[in-house]
Amino acid sequence: MARTYEVRTYGCQMNVHDSERLTGLLEDAGYAAAPAGEQADVVVFNTCAVRENADNKLYGNLSHLAPVKAANPGMQIAVGGCLAQKDRSTITQKAPYVDVVFGTHNIGSLPVLLERARVQEEAQVEILESLDVFPSTLPTKRESAYAAWVSISVGCNNTCTFCIVPALRGKEKDRRPGDVLAEVRALVAEGVTEVTLLGQNVNAYGVEFGDRQAFSKLLRACGEIEGLERVRFTSPHPAEFTDDVIEAMAETPTVMPSLHMPLQSGSDRMLKAMRRSYRSSKYLGIIERVRAAMPDAAITTDIIVGFPGETEEDFLETLRVVRESRFSSAFTFQYSKRPGTPAATLDEQVPPDVVKDRYGRLVALVNEIAEEENKRIVGRTLELMVSEGEGRKDAATLRLSGRAPDNRLVHFNPEGADGVRPGDMVTVQVTYGAPHHLVADGPVLAVRRTRSGDAWERRNAAPATPAGVGLGMPSIGVPAPLPDAPACR
Ligand code: SF4
Repeated sequence: MARTYEVRTYGCQMNVHDSERLTGLLEDAGYAAAPAGEQADVVVFNTCAVRENADNKLYGNLSHLAPVKAANPGMQIAVGGCLAQKDRSTITQKAPYVDVVFGTHNIGSLPVLLERARVQEEAQVEILESLDVFPSTLPTKRESAYAAWVSISVGCNNTCTFCIVPALRGKEKDRRPGDVLAEVRALVAEGVTEVTLLGQNVNAYGVEFGDRQAFSKLLRACGEIEGLERVRFTSPHPAEFTDDVIEAMAETPTVMPSLHMPLQSGSDRMLKAMRRSYRSSKYLGIIERVRAAMPDAAITTDIIVGFPGETEEDFLETLRVVRESRFSSAFTFQYSKRPGTPAATLDEQVPPDVVKDRYGRLVALVNEIAEEENKRIVGRTLELMVSEGEGRKDAATLRLSGRAPDNRLVHFNPEGADGVRPGDMVTVQVTYGAPHHLVADGPVLAVRRTRSGDAWERRNAAPATPAGVGLGMPSIGVPAPLPDAPACR
């Protein structure tokens, strides 16, 4: 009997994609996914250091597993990801029953470390300071048959003062365009029709090999790949956003009209304190040019309120930029100290009740604008890619869900779409707009069966396999922005 595994993932899209690699590696090494409801022989925590109290939560979760492990002596626990990179051997000191600790630069070592820990009956801690091999060369078990993440770079050369990423993921490493395109082509050959290009700062792509227009060229090259219908990317950085990217987006029909561009603050004073090297006028200028080139583009963002030293005037600047930008949604965060970041030691931390009040006002404005923008779409006809597991209430409402070209989530009445599968395309008319989704309650106007739907069907017709990997998120592999997990923090 193969030993079984479970991977628990926390944090951003980078971690979600890393977990696809961890599961691929484990299956390559002969492990099998643990059946739903059964205790796995190996539990892997792929951790995040960005979320507040991430360490307390990790140690809480580990302590729940301690008695399970005591009752199952062959069981192993591994901890990887950003918190492992940060805390290193502290983890095995605080939780001595942990067998393996591995960092963000050596996920490929997991099977070997598990085996070594088993044979030597001793915890293995391996943290590399920098990346030797780009992780995309590792085996990967994709969670979705129709949409896939493709890494173009890892790490970040910026030094935003609230962000732990540069310390834990290191300097930016770019993957060669030929390797990226070869992976995209291989995915398309397997039935994938949507890819999301992934990097902490996609606009800096090419810095390592000296081509400032490398990202726009990559978008155009993706547009040439036959069978690829939708190309997305995350996250761009306003400081390095250049017009050639806007042109490539507008002129490449398969690059979708959506843009997730972190604002973080509308106050120039706060942007300076955050060490974000653009100002609000530059940000708004990019939005204006994107809208001029793609009038229907949906623009989303990340915003932090209550950064140290933020005054009411600074906050009003953020509200102003939000009003002018008309985001279709925004991930909003109350600033909280992240140990290890420069901002954590700044004086003038904003009192929690002030942060809470500003946060409430920001969310109200964001939702008001998002609802107005969504209501403007009522009556329009959209082609959706049918998605899996994205409509929490679909079972109760008898609807299915899909993503519009601009990545808006649409819940639709499946009448007229018998046998439609995730990855297929349906055409619907929008009947209702809410702040966070659209509804199409008329019958489906057209169905287009796709290679992705075929791939989904093949995967689901395969002999019963153990339950999918427990990544702890409902929308794994579906490259929509995750509700609490921006890529760039
Ligand atoms: S917030 Fe984004 S751009 Fe800034 S340092 Fe972190 S990963 Fe880099």
